[in-house]
Amino acid sequence: MATNAEPCLYIVATPIGNLADISQRALEVLAQVDRIAAEDTRHSARLCQHFGIDTPLVAYHDHSDEHKTQALLDALATGQQLALISDAGTPLISDPGYRLVKLARDAGIKVVPVPGACAMAAALSVAGLPSNRFCFEGFLPAKAGARSRALAELAKETRTLIFYEAPHRIEDCLADMVATFGFERELVLARELTKTFETLLAGSAAEVLAQVRADPNQRKGEMVILVHGAEPVVDTIEPEAERIMECLLAELSLKQAASLGAEITGLRKKVLYQWALDQKPD
Ligand code: SAM
Repeated sequence: MATNAEPCLYIVATPIGNLADISQRALEVLAQVDRIAAEDTRHSARLCQHFGIDTPLVAYHDHSDEHKTQALLDALATGQQLALISDAGTPLISDPGYRLVKLARDAGIKVVPVPGACAMAAALSVAGLPSNRFCFEGFLPAKAGARSRALAELAKETRTLIFYEAPHRIEDCLADMVATFGFERELVLARELTKTFETLLAGSAAEVLAQVRADPNQRKGEMVILVHGAEPVVDTIEPEAERIMECLLAELSLKQAASLGAEITGLRKKVLYQWALDQKPD
C-alpha cells in the first residue's frame, strides 16, 4: 500500500487450524499492507508463505518494549498501513494486541477489524449450550489454588461459561470444575476444532472428566471448555419471614417494610416488595 495513504491498523483473524478458513478479505489486506505485526514471526511466515504473501513481518506482543510499539505507531503516523495477526484466531482474544489497539485509537488512528476464526465462538456455535448470554473467561490461573478460587467466584454465574485450557492442565482443571460446579453440571469439551481430530465431549462434568481420564487422546491438542450456567437462585420466603413482613406492613409503607424486612431476613428487598404486592387484595 502506498505510504501517505490513510493510516490504518487492521486487526486480522487467521485460521485456528484449517487454513481454508482464512477469508478472502484477510488475504487481500495481508497482501496489501506495508507490514504485518505478528505475535511469532516464524509461525506467521509459514502462513504467509502458504498463501504467497510476501509482506514484511515484524514481531509484536503486549510485552513488546515501548520502543517497538512506538515504532509501529510512528509507521502508522507516517501513513503506513499495518495488519496485526496472532498465531491463530482473532488477535486480542487471549492474544496480544490490546496495548497497540488502545494506543493507536488514542492517537486517532483508524483501527479496522477483519473478522474470522475464533476458537471460543466456534466452540459455542456447536456446543448446544445456551448462547444468548455467555461469559468468556479465557485461561484460568495455572496454579491450583488460584484456579479453585477463580472457579468458586464463578459458581453462581448463570450465563454459559467459556474457558481456554492447555492440554497438560485439562484433567486437573476438569476435576476442579466437578468439585466447584458439582458432578451434574452440563459441560462440553471442544477439542482440535477445524482440525483432523476435532472432537466434542459433552455430558455432566463428572462424565466428561471420566472420558478425559480414560483416554489419553482427549488430553491432547487445543481445547475449549464450555460450562452450562448455574440455575438461577429462586428466593423462597419462609413462614418466619412472612410473619416479620406482616408485622412490618401493619406499621410501615410497602417500600419501608420491604427495606427493613430485607435487613432483618437477609432476603432481597425486591423479592420482599413483590411478595408484599402479591398479598394485596385485587
Ligand atoms: N486468539 C485465539 C482465538 O481467537 O481463539 C485464541 C488464542 S489462545 C492463545 C489459544 C487457545 O485457544 C488454545 O490454548 C485453546 O484453548 C484455544 N484454541 C485455539 N485453537 C483451537 C482449536 N482449533 N480448537 C480448540 N481450541 C482452540
